[in-house]
Amino acid sequence: MAESEAGKAPRGVRLVITLVGRTNAGKSSLLNAIAGQDVAIVSDFAGTTTDPVAKPYELLPLGPVTFYDTAGLDDTGQLGKLRMAATRKVLWRTDIAVVVADDSGLTDAERGIIADIRRLGIPFLVVFNKSDLAAPPEADLDWCRAENIRFARASAATGQGATAVKEALIALAPAEAVREPMLAGDLFGEGDTVVCVVPIDLAAPKGRLIVPQVQVLREILDGDATAVVVKERELEDALANLRRPPALVVTDSQVILKVSGDVPDDVPLTTFSTLFARFKGDLPILVAGAAAIDGLKDGDTVLMSEACSHHVQADDIGRVKLPRWISQYTGKDLRFEVHAGHDFPDDLERFALVVHCGSCMLGRMEMVRRIRECVRRGVPVTNYGVAISKVQGVLERVLRPVLR
Ligand code: SF4
Repeated sequence: MAESEAGKAPRGVRLVITLVGRTNAGKSSLLNAIAGQDVAIVSDFAGTTTDPVAKPYELLPLGPVTFYDTAGLDDTGQLGKLRMAATRKVLWRTDIAVVVADDSGLTDAERGIIADIRRLGIPFLVVFNKSDLAAPPEADLDWCRAENIRFARASAATGQGATAVKEALIALAPAEAVREPMLAGDLFGEGDTVVCVVPIDLAAPKGRLIVPQVQVLREILDGDATAVVVKERELEDALANLRRPPALVVTDSQVILKVSGDVPDDVPLTTFSTLFARFKGDLPILVAGAAAIDGLKDGDTVLMSEACSHHVQADDIGRVKLPRWISQYTGKDLRFEVHAGHDFPDDLERFALVVHCGSCMLGRMEMVRRIRECVRRGVPVTNYGVAISKVQGVLERVLRPVLR
């Protein structure tokens, strides 16, 4: 794919790679050398890059990535503080960081940001740039080896080392960016029957099924199994009519309580949201986040985070039903705030818990990134489906088929 086509790929599926370093360490030039084209503004004057600059690029075999070129770590003054805050914000969403040092090696600035990056759990690489001018200090190389830090020598001016940097980036890519995800296809075999329970209530879109339902049905067909689709009212009859028990029952979370009563305990049962949470590569974190519901206290604020603005129903799940259920379950006086859109609120840390929507409109990497951001900022995160199962007392049961 050409760079221009990479630019058209949905943001959610792009890896975010962020370059950090002191002013004039050559971050922008290195980015150009990696990309093999002028993707960053380059200047001989210190401090050209102020706010992080996003640049889409195709990094084969990973596919589309977004490089962020950030302001200098040694940027000072009030403006410098703002720029550093902007860099930090990008780091929260970063999949791979590149710490760029010049021929003077690793100063307190680089060591400080390396400590931050490590604390945030971001895979990273140190690039000793300008190695055509002078070899990196041997003591710094020894330190990297001792600390088990991946490093490369490069020269943005001559292009030397750009391939090694690219290879290191590919090696550092998180597993979610590489592996083929599966929604439900590994939970049943050829010839099995899978029952899908789809309530058709006021909240259901007119004349169609929603994305998770369609995707599960498609995987059932791809797996040469039989799909039986029913509303919750017809479930008992449908189960009674089957010659042998289904390999799996998948239900909408909102009717899980009724469905778990109708489906015998030895039949694997899960929810579309649980499958989606696993599909996004983050189920264990979302389950751990759901445990934080038990620790909520009077006066705590819970963020209901939605990835898109959709038409709000009278009995909306994120605004009405789930807040009510969580309040009833905990017996606490809680505040709920709904936030829709691409970014989390800047003051995320003031929330005791983030409950994220099913993220059907987000790519897998984007959702993983949002969850990582919560973890990096020390805020427990779960999602609507997992939280519903938790407060309905069926979480252990719906996790059984997917965590076995
Ligand atoms: S689940 Fe999230 S992304 Fe999907 S429609 Fe609802 S708010 Fe939008």
